[in-house]
Amino acid sequence: MEREIFGYKCQKCGTLHYPFRMVCKNCRANGYFEFDTVPLPHAGKLLTFTFIHNLPAEFEVARLGLGIVELENGLRVTGQIQIDDPKLGMDVVGAIEVVKRDAYDNRYGFVFRAA
Ligand SMILES: [Zn+2]
Repeated sequence: MEREIFGYKCQKCGTLHYPFRMVCKNCRANGYFEFDTVPLPHAGKLLTFTFIHNLPAEFEVARLGLGIVELENGLRVTGQIQIDDPKLGMDVVGAIEVVKRDAYDNRYGFVFRAA
């Protein structure tokens, strides 16, 4: 099964939230009882990015790219970017991959590449 990252959609007004909130930011419905989980789209546009160099030893890469992406549904998410020459506004598509390995569990998140 392909992994997904889920957003939280208010049943009352349709507002989409990510990450989870306890109350709807639009109508203040209770998130525990009145949100549906919906898979986030994978395609979007790169709004901004940065590269981090000189990472601590637990990262196995020389540099880490981080970006903020506006998904097709207008939601903004942060994720890793694996793009050699990123440009603002470029189309990207996110895969859901392990972004951090801990001793006890793997954390999954978006890794964006050029569309
Ligand atoms: Zn709402």
